[in-house]
Amino acid sequence: MATPAWSVLPDEWKAFLKERGLRPFRADQILQSLYRDYITDWDQATTLPKDFRETLKVEFPIIPAEEVACDTAPDGTKKLLLKMSDGELVETVIIPVFGKNADGGKETVRLTQCISTQIGCAMGCAFCASGSKGIVRSMRSDEIVAEVMAARKYGTLTNLVVMGMGEPFANYDETMRALKLINAGRGPNLGARHITLSTCGVVPGFERLASEGLQFELSVSLHAPNDELRNDLMPVNRKWPMAELLAACREYTLKTKRIITFEYTVIKGVNDSRACAEELARRVKEVPMAKVNLIPLSPVDHRPAFTTPPASTMLMFLDVLMKNRVQTMIRRSRGKESQAACGQLRLRSLPSKTI
Ligand code: SAH
Repeated sequence: MATPAWSVLPDEWKAFLKERGLRPFRADQILQSLYRDYITDWDQATTLPKDFRETLKVEFPIIPAEEVACDTAPDGTKKLLLKMSDGELVETVIIPVFGKNADGGKETVRLTQCISTQIGCAMGCAFCASGSKGIVRSMRSDEIVAEVMAARKYGTLTNLVVMGMGEPFANYDETMRALKLINAGRGPNLGARHITLSTCGVVPGFERLASEGLQFELSVSLHAPNDELRNDLMPVNRKWPMAELLAACREYTLKTKRIITFEYTVIKGVNDSRACAEELARRVKEVPMAKVNLIPLSPVDHRPAFTTPPASTMLMFLDVLMKNRVQTMIRRSRGKESQAACGQLRLRSLPSKTI
């Protein structure tokens, strides 16, 4: 059975070479070819002997994702549509943050990529388009790495968020392998603290992540301050209710000493009352070192009744949380014009074959 090259960790390349009686420095050559020279065909790895390249072609094929569309929003956000080797389509978003350079010109100071971990999503959150048509399949680690490799021609990434299609904790092993590959010093080498995973609250994932001993950032999509409302918005809450979720968050922060960021998408008339804000403040305080990101809803086609709250509601929420000494920020949604904002990744430009 062939193993995709982009799924092999640096130590595994070393083990493979050892097993075949090959010299260990070949691992460096392989990793440089893959992640510094960005080869997409082993024949481009000219530092390797020809017969070894033939072995690699057969045993460790490089399987790039094909870019089939790139949509740029006026704010510079790009949505790439990628075709996997079996024809399935995946979306990834690249979000630049601009600043001024010394001459007063425009300069990209941060480049964040938002990646998908599944094709579709099984979680079925009411306000999210990604889950509105269910799940096709989970992605392999090399397919997740392929998203990052496909985006590199648009600039050097500074941050990665696992907030595209899919639930990372429902595809834990492949997602974690992909993040370790992306984080590897001799791989793409993106620092762990620049990588954020977001979960809707698949509780077993918290303990697993804590035991990895890695420095990834963790976000939790909360979106409601009590079970009654959360059950309505997020079916996952019926399996792992808030008390269990918050206990898992608490354990995670105590064990890792790392902050958890709660995401709260504010939906007009649904979860936007002062009472909701007060209750949210009380609940998140059950978790030491918690932060809250408030996000105005991005409207989605399948739920026209869900609308974006006015700025005054966002500010009321911010005020209530701050008065309760909860660290809070309002996040603006980027890429709306190219249907690339939170919860909009649903392959809407595509034939309905996929999901
Ligand atoms: N499954 C993971 C990651 C994907 S979603 C999770 O649930 O966290 C990334 C974030 O976008 C989540 O916080 C999700 O709840 C939020 N989101 C989904 N639909 C949205 C919408 N229509 N408007 C604003 N945020 C949305």
